[in-house]
Amino acid sequence: MFKNLINGEWVDGPRASRNINPSDTRDLVGEYAQADVAQTRAAIAAARAAFGAWSLATPQRRFDVLDAAGAEILARRAELGDLLAREEGKTLPEAIGEVVRAGNIFKFFAGEALRVGGEVIPSVRPGVGVEVTREPVGVVGLITPWNFPIAIPAWKIAPALAFGNSVVLKPADLVPGSAWQLADILKRAGLPDGVFNLVMGRGSEVGAELLENRQVDAISFTGSVATGQRVAAACVARGAKFQLEMGGKNPFVVLDDADLDVAVAAAVNSGFFSTGQRCTASSRLIVTEGIHDRFVAAMVDRMTSLRVDDARQAGTDIGPVVDERQLAQDLEYIAIARAEGATLAVGGEALPASSAGAPGFYLTPALFTGTSPAMRINQEEVFGPVVSVIKAKDYDEALALANDTPFGLATGIATTSLKHATHFKRHAQAGMVMVNLPTAGVDYHVPFGGRKASSHGPREQGKYAAEFYTTVKTAYTQA
Ligand code: NAD
Repeated sequence: MFKNLINGEWVDGPRASRNINPSDTRDLVGEYAQADVAQTRAAIAAARAAFGAWSLATPQRRFDVLDAAGAEILARRAELGDLLAREEGKTLPEAIGEVVRAGNIFKFFAGEALRVGGEVIPSVRPGVGVEVTREPVGVVGLITPWNFPIAIPAWKIAPALAFGNSVVLKPADLVPGSAWQLADILKRAGLPDGVFNLVMGRGSEVGAELLENRQVDAISFTGSVATGQRVAAACVARGAKFQLEMGGKNPFVVLDDADLDVAVAAAVNSGFFSTGQRCTASSRLIVTEGIHDRFVAAMVDRMTSLRVDDARQAGTDIGPVVDERQLAQDLEYIAIARAEGATLAVGGEALPASSAGAPGFYLTPALFTGTSPAMRINQEEVFGPVVSVIKAKDYDEALALANDTPFGLATGIATTSLKHATHFKRHAQAGMVMVNLPTAGVDYHVPFGGRKASSHGPREQGKYAAEFYTTVKTAYTQA
């Protein structure tokens, strides 16, 4: 049984959850203690008590802990990647890549602990000095989704600790294993008791307590729009700082002048790798008339050769969907799109087992053509390997369609025209824009986040993370 970490102690819970491998439902990944509300309160109280000393710890001390954690994550990439693939279902190379990313994030923020500074600004008054400094926010509650079990917790925990905050992490119920490993690594890296606490459990109990508890100064949330709206309402009501990263309906535009191979490679990667379960996945391909038929034919050809199989099997391109509920949701959207008149060009078939006969939640990648922008398949986030093609007259119409959604996370374009690429970068309504690259591939040291209904608050990752995990103070001194 893997336990919660509260004030430096491993603590059992009143319930346990069973973490099942979606590639092989006979494989129990682990049993994890589920915390209740009282234990969540104890974790918050521990974080509050530990905050004072950690907020005053030297930058060197914070560097040492984060650097050691990053080094251990990188050294154990194969083992942690295997666990991640087993609990979430992304392929082993993708899972190891995510672990490496998490390790690099800890290393990056170790450096930021040394670099974060303020500035001295001349006053408009004689003899007065003005200093602007950054202070930690306090106790931060981190609520994370299931689709990046180690990278998303890492990109919240590392800046929180680097800038002197104490932390209570509530990972997604489906994937507690990677989060538990992070807790164990941080404990052994020498973090004082109570500075980092792990409470696994239900959103409606553990998550809700983090939102309501006045001892929690800030909430960083990644997940669905529906839950994000609850987070926002609760934080506004009690004046807590908050940051939201939510869903997307990301477009990828393919212009007549695109390199077909580049366009297909980017669209396949963006739409189907990680089984389409990425917030930055492109689920709307907006393709201009002159290349439409060649592009669709090349997509169908490439998709037919993709291997859907056990996430840890060598040669697998696409692993299973995360669980039975998500598979049912994907199949429902496939049925809705057909009922709305879209043409299923390829895929969309649930497979009951891997090539070795292991029972799992497999779905062949689906491509719809002949879709119109108003169809639900083009308006709502499916969060699976289901992609639609919308035909556009020209670049101007393609840009308008790309922007015509409540979301604004990531967007992309395939073109060889410098003019169109430059115009698109300027006019795309999204937090991240890709030219001739998949929408889903992002670096670990630069800002991450979106606009409109996709995001709220400062960016995550990179030096911009300081905007959320610190608070600015302006001090005036009369000499
Ligand atoms: P979710 O909203 O169901 O859950 C996210 C987290 O919130 C989980 O830890 C859950 O237990 C918790 N939670 C649920 N109810 C709660 C409540 N009432 N109070 C407090 N916490 C509660 O999302 P999910 O299904 O885990 O993740 C998929 C979603 O996440 C997709 O919409 C995806 O686009 C989004 N996502 C966004 C980003 C991004 O950076 N923009 C990254 C990854 C995933």
